[in-house]
Amino acid sequence: MESVSLLITLLCAEFLGRVWLEIREVRLTMSRGGVFALLRVIPLVNDIVPLPENRREPSETEFVKKHEEAHKVMHHGILRNIAKLILALIAIWFLAAQLIRVGMPLWQGILWLHVVAIPFRVLFHLYCWNQEYEADAYAHKELGKQKTKVAMRELAECEIPYTHFFALMYREHPTAALRSKRLLNKVIKK
Ligand SMILES: [Zn+2]
Repeated sequence: MESVSLLITLLCAEFLGRVWLEIREVRLTMSRGGVFALLRVIPLVNDIVPLPENRREPSETEFVKKHEEAHKVMHHGILRNIAKLILALIAIWFLAAQLIRVGMPLWQGILWLHVVAIPFRVLFHLYCWNQEYEADAYAHKELGKQKTKVAMRELAECEIPYTHFFALMYREHPTAALRSKRLLNKVIKK
């Protein structure tokens, strides 16, 4: 019974935290909330709500091609899938332990998994971000500063603006601002 009240407390905290995050996002980026924002504050539903990242796809510049080449050369796709697989195995183990050893009902086990997975999700995003920075650095090294600048501006134009914190919670890509800061030591605006 104790574990149920703790679970409910955590879910309420999650809900309030996400509402705060959405309000902060609207204020800082001047964007409208929309129906996705409503879905994102609901536990479990927010695990599957898609997050649109771009207004339009960035064009296939040399930088984009080199960036994609870097992902291939560095086996990022495979590594990312291995990371996903490891996380999925931990999740299955965790759920099985709750159901079999603790004797928890399925719905509770799933909700616990949802809550416990939140920090792991953030860590996974950081892992993906690191891959993106690596691919950017590779393209930058191959093409030089000027082309990188143009590519970062293009990226900033295409991207739907999100704050760093919001991106950390929801996105597998760092924001254009973070990427240009990392590469060129300054934020390239559109
Ligand atoms: Zn990439």
